[in-house]
Amino acid sequence: MSQQPPFGFATRAIHAGQAFDPTTGAVIPPVYQSSTFVQEHIGGLRQGYEYARGTNPTRDSLQQLLASVEGGRHGLSFASGLAAEDALLRALLRPGDHVLMGNDVYGGTHRLANQILRPWGMALSTVEMSDLDAVRGALRPETRMLWLETPSNPLMKITDIEAVSALGHEHGLVVVVDNTFASPALQTPLALGADVVVHSTTKYLGGHSDVLGGAVVTSSDEIAERVGFLQFAAGAVSAPWEAFLTIRGIKTLKLRMAAHSDNAEAVVDALVGHPAVERVYYPGLSEHPGHDVACRQMARYGGMVALALAGGPSAARRFAEGTQLFQLAESLGGVESLVNYPAEMTHASVRGTELEVPDNLVRLSVGIEEADDLVADARAALDRL
Ligand SMILES: *Cc1c(COP(=O)(O)O)cnc(C)c1O
Repeated sequence: MSQQPPFGFATRAIHAGQAFDPTTGAVIPPVYQSSTFVQEHIGGLRQGYEYARGTNPTRDSLQQLLASVEGGRHGLSFASGLAAEDALLRALLRPGDHVLMGNDVYGGTHRLANQILRPWGMALSTVEMSDLDAVRGALRPETRMLWLETPSNPLMKITDIEAVSALGHEHGLVVVVDNTFASPALQTPLALGADVVVHSTTKYLGGHSDVLGGAVVTSSDEIAERVGFLQFAAGAVSAPWEAFLTIRGIKTLKLRMAAHSDNAEAVVDALVGHPAVERVYYPGLSEHPGHDVACRQMARYGGMVALALAGGPSAARRFAEGTQLFQLAESLGGVESLVNYPAEMTHASVRGTELEVPDNLVRLSVGIEEADDLVADARAALDRL
């Protein structure tokens, strides 16, 4: 099936790269759990398949699907989000190049850049990415890449992808957007001018907290070729079974993101104005900084919500340990609701850096259970504080 428009998002999510099996008619393409492929004669590869670090049909399917849902020409899938990011950074940069990242990027992204790529020779600095003047002021002659995340984690800051991409391109930079929080069902950065989208497919794309994976999507042949070479040469590929689970997740992405957004809005309604809550961070709130930009670049506001507790860190900890349906765990984007205390969990690695988060903050990944049950659970935990 052709993967590009005129087909709409849900159609592509279900069909792109998913042709039925021509030998049996199986509607679901087989999982090619095979590390190597028989050659017809020396060098006589069947449809290009040789060894699974290079290519595997199940991974190919996922890669075509990833490209299609993000509206890019090339998709590359990896063993984890960070494996994808590592390949992208090392494929496009040389020692001496400078990368400017948002000051609220995923903690693991900052750790990778700061502790692995900086010693390798990459220069790194961070900036308030939603402030265009600050971004302009932080550029250096050796800057090669802008890296942003919107909505960001955990403060749900919004960056204008179109404006930052335009600014980056004025200076010949590669603009990378981590689209993990919104997912392509709600936001497509390539259509807004970004050069590369990265994902932790572990989160909304997989959607069921049962698989780890990452992706790079781009329409640039050159970027795809360089990242593809590193994918093959360094080998952090996604395995066939993981690729299959991710494909299965993506098929329902549009429905799930609508349900996540509905439920998050219901939970936000219950949190706003509760006396135990100092502030709610959700891009759908009209008073949220960047709400207007979010309105323009997102179809809905997604399932991630953060709240600051009026009672400080001890109240935040008690709330995070006091919910029942919202289970205390890292990660996000699954069908089940999770609660996380960033200062000591997801963001422990950025303590003492410019990415440090407030210690009275709790982050919710609002799942797709019944909204009333989630609201009751959150409200009960607040009432007990
Ligand atoms: C989880 C996450 C990552 C890292 O992905 P892994 O699959 O855990 O390696 C990167 N960016 C964001 C926004 C994430 O939430």
